[in-house]
Amino acid sequence: MKGRVFSGARPTGRQHLGNYLGAVQNYVALQEGYETIYCVVDLHALTTLTGTELLVQNTFDMVLDWLAAGMDPKRSIIFVQSHVPAVSELHVILSMMTPMSWLTRVTTFKEKVQQQPENVNYLLLGYPVLMTADITLYKADTVPVGEDQLPHLELAREVVRRFNNRFGPVLVEPQAKLTEFPRVLGLDGVQKMSKSLDNHIELAADPETTSKRVMQMVTDVSRVYRRDPGHPEVCNVFSLHKQFSPDEAEAIAADCRAAALGCVECKRRLAASLNAWLAPFRERRARFEADPDYVWDVLADGAKRAAAIAYPNLEEIKRAVGLPVSRVLA
Ligand code: SF4
Repeated sequence: MKGRVFSGARPTGRQHLGNYLGAVQNYVALQEGYETIYCVVDLHALTTLTGTELLVQNTFDMVLDWLAAGMDPKRSIIFVQSHVPAVSELHVILSMMTPMSWLTRVTTFKEKVQQQPENVNYLLLGYPVLMTADITLYKADTVPVGEDQLPHLELAREVVRRFNNRFGPVLVEPQAKLTEFPRVLGLDGVQKMSKSLDNHIELAADPETTSKRVMQMVTDVSRVYRRDPGHPEVCNVFSLHKQFSPDEAEAIAADCRAAALGCVECKRRLAASLNAWLAPFRERRARFEADPDYVWDVLADGAKRAAAIAYPNLEEIKRAVGLPVSRVLA
């Protein structure tokens, strides 16, 4: 029997190369060997947002990119978290199984308190419990995570074990599928690629904008003159060449080291590779964008399929806890 993968992503709108290399390409690949459930976690987004007016558009834009990148609604359940409200109910139940001390020690909570001291809301603390509800509601046994997310998943597993010890083996304990997510740097070559830092290249950008952004990339800073030998191993342009022009990468590295290739020309070649790679993506995206009803129907169908797993499971959980299950549901 195939394992079941669950993964959620906040609705961040149009995706960039960092999102693609760090998550979306893995989502697409996992469709081969697993039952895959991918969720736009809009409720999680509320913990850090100051305004919510872009949530709908951001959800639409992100799902457009997902579909264009090869996430297939016939093979994956793709849906919006809040469209299956059972997750909020399970979050409440699991909240009462989770000691406060487990949550206050979470490093990302401490970081968020520093980052947004004016908005230390309740769910900022309860976030890992909502995440546990996301995973366990859909009986997912596999969660793709990077090394840095392992502590979150371990907390989810602790909550599951605590619940199952008390009420019986009802919840599926998820396992981490440790995945190497390349850390994609932004145009500055220092910080992680991010929309908020405006150092990103969008997948959906037109060819001119893409080229312009590539030409702004910082290269090996120790290479001052064209005649200086470069160090491709520390150059962000080269790390994108490895992803998007793999056949040329070896020659580029050698020419860079021998000062036979200038950075301007190297970036021009990267822009050309990137635009060639993005061309079919842009075509597919334009087709989906022209038919917004299709995109919302994908999400509606995904919510229906997700709910078909969620509600019987929630009922079983409530019975295990000892809650009186409504006759309307029974
Ligand atoms: Fe980087 Fe290319 Fe310049 Fe070498 S030639 S430093 S790989 S941009």
